[in-house]
Amino acid sequence: PNMKVSEVAESLGISNAEIIKKLMQLGVMTSVNQSIDRDTIELVALDMGFEIQDEVVTDITRFDEMKFEDDEKDLIKRAPIVTVMGHVDHGKTTLLDTIRHSRVVQGEAGGITQHIGAYQVERNGEKITFIDTPGHAAFTEMRARGAKVTDITVLVVAADDGVMPQTVEAIHHAQAANVPIIVAVNKMDKPSANPDHVMTELSNYNLLPEQWGGKTPYVEVSALKGKGIDTLLDVIQLVSEIEDYKANPNRLATGTVVEARLDKGRGVVATMIVANGTLKVGDNIVCGNTYGKIRTMNDDTKKRLTEAIPSQPVEITGLFDMPEAGDIFVSIVDERQARQIAEERQARQREGELQKQKKASLNTMFAEAEAGQKELILIIKGDTQGSIEALKGSLEKINVEGLHVNVIRSSVGAITESDVSLASASNAIIIGFNVRPTSAVRENAKQQGVEIRLYNIIYKAIEEIEAALNGMLEPEF
Ligand code: GDP
Repeated sequence: PNMKVSEVAESLGISNAEIIKKLMQLGVMTSVNQSIDRDTIELVALDMGFEIQDEVVTDITRFDEMKFEDDEKDLIKRAPIVTVMGHVDHGKTTLLDTIRHSRVVQGEAGGITQHIGAYQVERNGEKITFIDTPGHAAFTEMRARGAKVTDITVLVVAADDGVMPQTVEAIHHAQAANVPIIVAVNKMDKPSANPDHVMTELSNYNLLPEQWGGKTPYVEVSALKGKGIDTLLDVIQLVSEIEDYKANPNRLATGTVVEARLDKGRGVVATMIVANGTLKVGDNIVCGNTYGKIRTMNDDTKKRLTEAIPSQPVEITGLFDMPEAGDIFVSIVDERQARQIAEERQARQREGELQKQKKASLNTMFAEAEAGQKELILIIKGDTQGSIEALKGSLEKINVEGLHVNVIRSSVGAITESDVSLASASNAIIIGFNVRPTSAVRENAKQQGVEIRLYNIIYKAIEEIEAALNGMLEPEF
């Protein structure tokens, strides 16, 4: 749909002068009353960090909300994208290796895969994409950059060890991102394996097994011996069937960078997963703060490709600079525009403006509430289990005109880097009750734009959160 320049400016919250200047920079000469088409609107919005969704503009850094405005009839099924998470030594790497080696898409390059950061396997004639970097550090980092790369999380738990701290962190991350979890109970070959114990423990984390009337699939595997892997892949496909992942291959591509490195001969080599559209050799892309033209493209079996479809991981060359894991890329028709956007982003970053990413703060809550955000996301850290439970209970009861509090993590202990990264990725505010962050953590939070609020009286905390939800809180500067 076309929109008047003035209307676009209004919905983006910028002045007419600003938008006209921006359009001029992109090579489009207009006046306020002239109409511009969807592509142009999207270009301007995208460049300013927004993505358009049904006339409503949202922040592109919040990839979770990114809806592609595609006609239902253009959508086709795409492979699920799976991330493996879990505690150290529970077998994530072994599992990824076993799947990679045993299930390489048949008939391609003799089945020898290379590590490019992601790979695809085929089962029952359908593909599954795996992110080949285990652990939630990568997952969180990408999410903090706005990339929603994962459709499904496989949570690996060693049957002889049970739930450990990083198991819990992984659960928090997946649940905060609203990603379905499949539990792989690993090391079933060990005599000391106790899968029932794992199920019992995990039931406390909203992961009641299907076998016990819950919603979470559990699959017993031995990553080392290759047992149960077929079942795991079947379950992934079952979940994927239900979630019904789709994309439109007939549009310019968008997607995410999984990893990147500098190669002596080839320059910047980046692994990217296409989220939507079809990526082609020769496409101009903007990618984070850099840009380029896709020079070569290959898959994880080194096979040369000319095109990549949604959910396909590819290794590409042709970028001028190193992107970062989690950077979002978009194909852009005009090479000059791609360069301009990238250069402007670089300039903005130099000015430190990109650091000013919109993050949650109590003061902006009201504005966000108006914009349709219905919850205030909190992480609660406290000195005792009792005080945390009391605080959490009271906060969760607050309900101001349909707005409510969603506590995604609550635990005893100091405020840590891990809390900050989860908060950053989830747009959450951290509440400290009788605990404080170290100065390093505080600095990190500041950099990531994460707000930490400290309390030592429960009712004070409740009062302030309630006030925030009412939009009555005085701005703090
Ligand atoms: P990660 O840290 O989660 O990536 O764990 P690794 O994949 O590196 O595995 C840690 C250790 O557990 C290694 O010594 C593996 O050989 C072993 N391991 C992984 N899966 C299994 C399994 O299914 N059975 C047994 N017995 N050992 C396993």
